[in-house]
This record gives sequence, C-alpha cells and structure tokens, in this order.
Amino acid sequence: ILYEAYPEAFRRNNVAGKVPLGVKRKNLRIVVTGGAGFVGSHLVDRLIGRGDSVIVVDNFFTGRKENLVHHFGNPRFELIRHDVVQPILLEVDQIYHLACPASPVHYKFNPVKTIKTNVVGTLNMLGLAKRVGARFLLTSTSEVYGDPLQHPQVETYWGNVNPIGVRSCYDEGKRTAETLTMDYHRGLGIEVRIARIFNTYGPRMCIDDGRVVSNFVAQALRKEPLTVYGDGKQTRSFQYVSDLVEGLIRLMERDHVGPFNLGNPGEFTMLELAEVVQETIDLNAKIEFRPNTEDDPHKRKPDISKAKQLLGWEPTVSLRKGLPLMVSDFRQRIFDDQKTGGA
Ligand code: NAD
Ligand code: UDP
Ligand code: UDP
Repeated sequence: ILYEAYPEAFRRNNVAGKVPLGVKRKNLRIVVTGGAGFVGSHLVDRLIGRGDSVIVVDNFFTGRKENLVHHFGNPRFELIRHDVVQPILLEVDQIYHLACPASPVHYKFNPVKTIKTNVVGTLNMLGLAKRVGARFLLTSTSEVYGDPLQHPQVETYWGNVNPIGVRSCYDEGKRTAETLTMDYHRGLGIEVRIARIFNTYGPRMCIDDGRVVSNFVAQALRKEPLTVYGDGKQTRSFQYVSDLVEGLIRLMERDHVGPFNLGNPGEFTMLELAEVVQETIDLNAKIEFRPNTEDDPHKRKPDISKAKQLLGWEPTVSLRKGLPLMVSDFRQRIFDDQKTGGA
C-alpha cells in the first residue's frame, strides 16, 4: 500500500547512498527539523550545496532566520514555521531530526516542553517516515551516558543518568527518542540512523546560549571575565561543526543503524579550554569561578572506533584550528549588535 501511494519516495529511499561510482545520484527531498539552529543550518548548507531539495521545519525557539537567509529565494529551499510536537504531512526521502534545544540553559527553561519535543516530536517524525517510506536520522546526544562511570564512552555503555534530575528532561527525553527510533525500526521496518553527538561548537551558535564555548568566546570578546563553573577540572571533548555535519551525512548515506558516537576525542578541562580561549582572543582575559550546576557530568570523551571503522569518519579540525573560525563570526555579530544598540 505504501509503495503504491508513494512509489517515488520508496524508489529514492532504496537507492539512497547505494549509487554506483560514476552514476549521477538522484537529487533527494530532505526535511531537516531544527534546521534554523546552529548544527541544522550548517547541515542545510551542505545538502543544498550538493543539489538536494531541503525543507526546514523549525519553531524558532532557539533557531534564527538569519542562519538560513542566504537560501531564501532558492527554489530548492523551503522554510516552515512549525512545532514538531504537532503532526505534519510532507513528502520526502530523508528526515534529519534535529529539533530540540541543545544548551542546558535552553532545555531547562521549559523542561516539560523539552520532553514533549523529544518524545512527541520524535514520534511524529517517525510516523512521517513510516507513511512516506523515508529514512530517518535522530540526533541523540552524549548526555545519554549521563555522568559516565566508563571513560571514554563506548556505544555499548548504558550510562549513568539521574531520571528525576534537572537535566533528565533532555537526557531521558533523548533516551526515549532512541527507544522509539529502534522500535519503529524493529517493529515496522523503518530505515533509521542514530547519532550520539558530543559537544560541538562553531559559527552561528547563539551568542548567549550558556554553553561553555559560546560563553567563554563572547566573554573574552566583550572584555568580561571567563566564568568557570565549579573547580574547572571537569572535562569535555569539543568538536568543530563541519566535522559533525560530515559524520551525520555519512551516517545517513551508509548502511549502519548505529548508534554512533560523533565527537572529537581531544579532551580538555574547562580551565584548559579557558586557556585556549585566552591564547586565541585575549591573553589578559580574567577567569572568575562560579558555583557549578546540578548533576554536571565530571568527564566526557567519545570512543569513536565504531564510526572510524564503519563510516570511515573521524574529526579533522582541532580545537586550536576551529576556535578562530568561530571567533570571527562572534566578533562580527557582537560588533554588529553593539552598533545597532543590541536590536
Ligand atoms: P540549537 O538550539 O541551535 O538548534 C535546535 C533547533 O531546533 C532550533 O532551531 C530550534 O528553534 C528548533 N526547535 C526546538 N524545539 C523545536 C520544536 N518543538 N519544534 C520545531 N523546532 C524546534 O541546537 P544545536 O546545537 O543545533 O542542536 C541540534 C541537535 O543536535 C539537537 O537535537 C541537539 O540535542 C543535538 N546535539 C547537539 C549538540 C551540540 O553540542 N551542539 C550535542 C549533542 C546533541
Ligand atoms: N504523523 C505525522 N505525519 C505523518 C504521519 C504521521 O506527523 O505523515 C504523526 C501522527 O499524527 C502520529 C505519529 O506521527 O501522532 C505516529 O504515527 P503512526 O502512524 O506511527 O502512529 P498512529 O497514528 O497509528 O498512532
Ligand atoms: N561551564 C563553565 N562555564 C560556563 C558554562 C559552562 O565552566 O560559562 C561548564 C559546565 O559546568 C560544564 C561544561 O562547562 O561542566 C560544559 O557545559 P555546556 O553547558 O557547554 O555543555 P554540557 O556538556 O554540560 O551539556
């Protein structure tokens, strides 16, 4: 029945990523939920750049039209203001499902909405994938490992998550999203992919989104002290956004469901990160210690052996190379903002 209703979607879906060398690949119709956000807008640039048609679905909670304005007027690009918690009917070949606030400050702002977005939003996108026979990719997170007791984290580790904590709307929300994704795959034969993304930074991040890299960079540029939470000895591994986008596209196109860790294994304490920011922007930038947030994971570093082996993927941009690329974008935006009086 599905084939008769949507033969085109089925045909395209079945050849996606399997076109022999030398044969021109069919252009695809792709929906990117959360495409007006930081990661989503970079992904859209790549998909449009290779000739596909892209529909962005976004409610602009943390996303901005400015991130996509360069595609306005392109007949292969469409932007729909829509909340994924509500059902939507579209005809597409692939679904990149990113819609969800990613910064702790944003996802804790309305925790019930965060859970709804992760659970009901993901259910709707899986329902859409089922109806049109599209391939579905979920952007899950390293936060499914919680405050990990295993280091570095391998995909087979089940994590250490507080189910009733202030971060659980996000951690448990994403864990349920992974469960739904696997159950639609196992039970209904939907083609799915799961990426577990580790801390990612780059141009177009919200300047005041509260994440550590955006905070430190904005603070150093504004000549404010860098706010280190706790003792600053907790670690994170920072991935540049172009590496992530490459990993997501490879995952979608290849034949493995995952989950796959997508992150840069270079591990830094927050104090080390502050030093790199000082070296990149302002050697005299001061450091100010603040109390840490609740349930903050102590360590985080991806084991990416699986992605290396099965996707042939590994990051190529180190923190010291990627940070200056983000700094020029932030400098421009902060400077423009000051000129227009913060409008
Ligand atoms: P972001 O906040 O910049 O982008 C999220 C986008 O989703 C925004 O455009 C926002 O407006 C949209 N959105 C939120 N709720 C929505 C809803 N209910 N309906 C429609 N749109 C909605 O965040 P990001 O860093 O680009 O993250 C993108 C995805 O990657 C998220 O799913 C996030 O959980 C995941 N991820 C990101 C990181 C990271 O370090 N950036 C790490 C792990 C996982
Ligand atoms: N859905 C959607 N777009 C579609 C198909 C389904 O938003 O093109 C939603 C649908 O409204 C439902 C969810 O996806 O809330 C799950 O759909 P499914 O068909 O799997 O389950 P059912 O509708 O039978 O509960
Ligand atoms: N952090 C910090 N200063 C800030 C913001 C965050 O020291 O201004 C710390 C935070 O406590 C955490 C780490 O940086 O240990 C990463 O926080 P972020 O919110 O960027 O991402 P998370 O990995 O916690 O989701």
